[in-house]
Amino acid sequence: MRVLMVTSEAVPFAKTGGLADVCGALPTALADLGHDVRVVMPRYRQIDAATLAPGLAPLGVPTGEGERWCGVPSRRLSSSGVSFTFIEHDALFGRSGLYGPSGGVDGYPDNCLRFTVLCRGALQLCHQLGWFPDVIHCHDWQASLVPWFLHAFEGASSLAATPTLLTVHNQAYQGRFAAEELLVTGLGRQHFDWRGLEHQGGLNLLKGGLARATLLNTVSPTYAQEIQTPELGEGLDGLLRYRAADLRGVLNGIDTALWDPATDPLLPARYDASSLTGKATCARELRWRAGLPEPSGSDGRAQLLAGFIGRLVLQKGADVIVDAADRLVAAGVQVVLLGTGDEAQESDLRALSSRLDGFHAWIDFDESLAHLIYAGCDLLLMPSRYEPCGLNQLYAMRYGTLPVVTDIGGLRDSVSDAGLPEGTGFVCASATTEDLIEAVARAQVMAANPPGLDGMIQRAMSRDSGWDRAAQQYVALYEEALERKKRDQ
Ligand code: ADP
Repeated sequence: MRVLMVTSEAVPFAKTGGLADVCGALPTALADLGHDVRVVMPRYRQIDAATLAPGLAPLGVPTGEGERWCGVPSRRLSSSGVSFTFIEHDALFGRSGLYGPSGGVDGYPDNCLRFTVLCRGALQLCHQLGWFPDVIHCHDWQASLVPWFLHAFEGASSLAATPTLLTVHNQAYQGRFAAEELLVTGLGRQHFDWRGLEHQGGLNLLKGGLARATLLNTVSPTYAQEIQTPELGEGLDGLLRYRAADLRGVLNGIDTALWDPATDPLLPARYDASSLTGKATCARELRWRAGLPEPSGSDGRAQLLAGFIGRLVLQKGADVIVDAADRLVAAGVQVVLLGTGDEAQESDLRALSSRLDGFHAWIDFDESLAHLIYAGCDLLLMPSRYEPCGLNQLYAMRYGTLPVVTDIGGLRDSVSDAGLPEGTGFVCASATTEDLIEAVARAQVMAANPPGLDGMIQRAMSRDSGWDRAAQQYVALYEEALERKKRDQ
């Protein structure tokens, strides 16, 4: 099957979160199954042009503000044969941030135009290459205009019968713009109504995509249910209930070659389930870098090292950790945290880090430090208020670090509580300080009984989190989308 993937980020080229991990790993897993996969994404400033092959010829991309001429350099990954093509337009994409000024909360004011060019450019590229996919896999609001451009502009082209799958990685990010921005997309006003791109009087790209894509999915089965409720639907639950028969949940996998404690070049020592000596070395290095003392063991308590990695936004619950920190440290737990985001959360964390011995925060985005935290901790704290899938818990388990998670979304679908025979982590009923402290206390009790904890670590490390299963589920969705499109024509 020929699959065109349209995304705003992908490992190893540009990453702000889990979307990039998925768009880096899923194409490879699909290629391993024998499919022909091409990924299209913007060329941001951080992607070195010298590492890319030049495109055939400049690509003219129509927009409501005239044609934008883009370069289309590409790179074929030698490991998988997957081709990445980059939509290159320096005035639009040659910036420091992917979606907005680094560190800021607002998006760039021309984001509607930027992602119009990505989506329309992806379709123009197919014409330029004479390569027509069987299915187009769109990711998040940034790729949500693809089904509309197919509908409005490709009705008589070789792309006319191409179905789309829209994957929602986070329902809260919708690409909302003022109504006038519709003009930028080049789409006519007839598409701006309750069945189309209009939502609450404005332009809402994700809403439009959810209304028009052939099939929809989110990144875990539980989140697929949750976004159909007013609590987590972010205003689009009605539309999702209407499309419930077309909406699926596919739990993400992880790139088990990139995330493997036995081979990870970013770790000071490597290890696997048969010997955790290397993990202890990683813990020592992590404590040293955080300025935390080695556990003395003299007071008879299990002195666990707990970590957090993530965007500092309300969703992820770093504020819950801030509230719990004094009591966790008083109970003998050391805490390290790595994240960037909301300014208020960043300053709370800086203040806590300088005040509280036993707690250290890095306000940074640091891939290599993230690997060390997954490897060096005993526990990974994820008091998320909602979580579409969550990858951190999957990385943590693979590195023998037990996740402490809220009972929601993809966390529920991937972590079993210590109270169960198949337990691989600690599940909290809700994202509250009390529940988090209680779960960490349970972990401390288990740590005082090593055979129980060791069994969990072994189970966590041997959990199959690879992409094979999910890639097969995506292929089944692509086939279903093809059938659906044929039937509806
Ligand atoms: P989301 O996409 O909602 O941010 P996910 O759990 O799906 O959350 O994916 C987060 C990814 O981003 C993981 O690979 C995680 O290790 C990485 N990550 C998040 N924050 C940081 C950071 N400050 N430094 C390094 N990696 C980070």
